[in-house]
Amino acid sequence: MKVIRSQAEMRQWSREQRAAGKTIGLVPTMGALHAGHASLIEASVAREDVTVVSIFVNPAQFAPHEDYDTYPRTFESDCGIVESLGGAAVYAPTAKAMYGRNYATYVEVERLQEGLCGGSRPHFFRGVATVVAKLFNSVDPDRAYFGQKDGQQAAVIRRMVRDLDFGIEIVALPTVREKDGLALSSRNQYLSPSERTRALCISRALFAARDMLEAGERDAGRIVSEVKSTMEDLEIDYVTIVDADEMTPVERIEGPIMLAVAAKVGNTRLIDNIQFALQKAATPAPESARSSRA
Ligand code: AMP
Repeated sequence: MKVIRSQAEMRQWSREQRAAGKTIGLVPTMGALHAGHASLIEASVAREDVTVVSIFVNPAQFAPHEDYDTYPRTFESDCGIVESLGGAAVYAPTAKAMYGRNYATYVEVERLQEGLCGGSRPHFFRGVATVVAKLFNSVDPDRAYFGQKDGQQAAVIRRMVRDLDFGIEIVALPTVREKDGLALSSRNQYLSPSERTRALCISRALFAARDMLEAGERDAGRIVSEVKSTMEDLEIDYVTIVDADEMTPVERIEGPIMLAVAAKVGNTRLIDNIQFALQKAATPAPESARSSRA
């Protein structure tokens, strides 16, 4: 497996793969790889001729008071994981190479970047969209693989790709959870044993909400209050139900939605979500067809 450090080398490697007629899958990560990342890498390896895993802790998506300096960095073991899963290359540029002197250009995805995590982290999606655009330009993948765990991120990237004509397919895959329901996250390692136990109310609340939705509840306010009451021991940032594409709050569930939560457990901010789409009712046969069968 190849480790690539510069944009120029990445571009060159990617050109060689294309010239050899190979499809390229990209899995963007910040490292500290876990089974959630592994599910994306496996999906890409299964489908593509070559898979690139980028490992880059992106300074542009952290505010000064956030955990950029302390974010877990486990590069050697990450490379071992990528290699064992069949990845062809790890792309790990330096922050200096990505954001050189007088760096000035950022991508903003209006509206979609504003609510949910964008409310408490206003810098965040601008940083994410910018770095993903830069990765796309250097790697030039056919498809890029993201986790639905970061549902707003997947929606922002999908819109960026559509609006800026990237011509890259975005594949979003289900959230991988621990047996007890906790969504895997590189930040889970910040949790003390007792905080980890407290964090379980997040997935418990989401699963109970899914039961309400499946039982036919369509009032977003009622679901949100149930979720909030299950999570009352945590410092809630938001609990909201949004349209799955637009990321705008809905009052009634009439189309595909995401129920998304963010909360602090001690000093650790965790996010999680579920998606829900109404089952399409079978299309009734046209009146004439029905009467002729009768
Ligand atoms: P990160 O390293 O946290 O930036 O995440 C890199 C990618 O892995 C993103 O597309 C995340 O959505 C995805 N990811 C993170 N946690 C999970 C998980 N528990 N299940 C599935 N995908 C995940």
